[in-house]
Amino acid sequence: MSPYVLYSDGKGNIFEDTSLYAVGRYGWDAVPVHESEWIELPDGGSLYELPGRQGIGIDVESGEMRLCEKGWAVAAFIPPAHTGLYLAAYETGPDAPTLPLFCYTATGWHNDKFYVPAVRIERDIRQECSGFDAGKVQEGVKHMLEAYPHNRLVKHLAENCALTYHCPAARNYFMGRWECPVPSSPACNANCIGCISFQPAEETIVSTQDRLTFKPTAAEIVEYTVPHLETAPYPIISWGQGCEGEPLLMWETIRDSIIEIRKHTDKGSININTNGSRPAAVEELMKVGLNSIRVSMNSVQPDIYTKYYQPNNYVFDDIVESLRVVNRYGGWSSINYFVFPGMTDSVEEYEALRALIKDTGLSMIQWRNFNIDPDWYLGKMGVTETGDCLGVVQLMELIHAEFPNLKYGYFNPPAERMKNFDVDFAH
Ligand code: SF4
Repeated sequence: MSPYVLYSDGKGNIFEDTSLYAVGRYGWDAVPVHESEWIELPDGGSLYELPGRQGIGIDVESGEMRLCEKGWAVAAFIPPAHTGLYLAAYETGPDAPTLPLFCYTATGWHNDKFYVPAVRIERDIRQECSGFDAGKVQEGVKHMLEAYPHNRLVKHLAENCALTYHCPAARNYFMGRWECPVPSSPACNANCIGCISFQPAEETIVSTQDRLTFKPTAAEIVEYTVPHLETAPYPIISWGQGCEGEPLLMWETIRDSIIEIRKHTDKGSININTNGSRPAAVEELMKVGLNSIRVSMNSVQPDIYTKYYQPNNYVFDDIVESLRVVNRYGGWSSINYFVFPGMTDSVEEYEALRALIKDTGLSMIQWRNFNIDPDWYLGKMGVTETGDCLGVVQLMELIHAEFPNLKYGYFNPPAERMKNFDVDFAH
C-alpha cells in the first residue's frame, strides 16, 4: 500500500496526484516510507497547503523520485497522542514564506482516505478532539468566573486559553477533569528559536499564544487548584504552559502554593513543565511536594540544545541535574522530546539519549511532534546536511529494548499511572 501524493490549488482545495506515490523526509532528504508505517490520519488531524512549495513523490511508472508540478505541497498536522515518523517532503521555492509553528508530517491519499506515517504513542484520551464539548466548556467558564470573580488567572484561563486559543488543558479544566493548567511566569531565561509564546519582532512568524502579562499570587493559584484536585477524575495541576515563560523563575510562588495546597488536600499530582534550568529551585519544590517534572528539549546533545534554546545564565548540565534531583527524591521525571526525523534519530543523538537515561534514571519520554517549519529550523541550526539516521520507529524500539522500564507517552501521567503505568484508567 503506497498512498498517492497530495497537492493543493492554493485556494484550500486538495487533490491526489495518481502519477506519484507519497514519500517522507528525514532532515533535508526525501525518502520512501515503509508501507507498515502508514496509518489513517487520526481524528482531530488536519491538512495544510504549503505555499511556494512543491511536493516530492515516486513516479508510479518509472520509480524515479520527482516533483509534483500540479500545485502546492500538502502536509498533515497530526493530533496529540500520535508521533510523526517522517516530515512532509517538498522543494521550497525562493519566495516561499516561513511556515507557522505547527508540525508538518508527510501525508498521502489511498482508498478514499488520508494517511500519515505515525504511531499512537499514548493511550490517554485527554486531548481527543471528539471528547471536547464546547457547551460544557462555556458552562464551566461561566461557573468558574462567578465562583472566582477576582481571580486573574481563572479569567486568563477562561478568556484567553479556553475561548481564544482553545487550549485542550484549559478546556479540560473548565470541563472539571484531568490536567489543569497553572501558567505563572511572564518571563523566560531561554530564547528558543521556535518559542510558542514569544517571537522577536524581526521574525516573520508569530507565536501561537501571547505570553502571560502578570505574576499570579499563591492565593490565586491555590483558590482554583485545590477544588480541581479534590473533585476532578485523575487530577493533575501543571505549571509550565504554552502561554507563559519559564515557571522556575517563579519558584518561590510555586513553593508557597504547593505548601498551601497540600494543607487542604493530598489528592492528585502536582507537575511542572519546564526548561529545567534551575536544579536548586527544583529541589526546593521536591522538598514541599512536587510530584513530577517534564523538561523540554529539542536534543540531548548540549551543542544542538544550546543552539536552539539560546539560554540566559544556565547550561545544558543544569537541566540534566534537574532530572537527577527529581529522581533522587523519588519523583517522576519526563522529557518533552521534540521529535524531528533526521535529527532525533541520528546515531549521535541515540547515543546521547542512552547516556542521559542512564545518568538521570529517567521515568518517561514524551515523544512530541516538533511544531516548527523544518527548513527554517535546519537553517537556523546551521544544519546543511543530515547523515544516516536510524528511523524514528527503530530509535524507539532500540531504547525500549535497552530500558524496558522507561515509559513512552505524550502526556504527564496522573498519580494513578505513576504508581502503575498500565493501570486501566479508562476515563
Ligand atoms: S523555554 Fe519555553 S517560554 Fe522559554 S523561550 Fe523556550 S519555548 Fe519559550
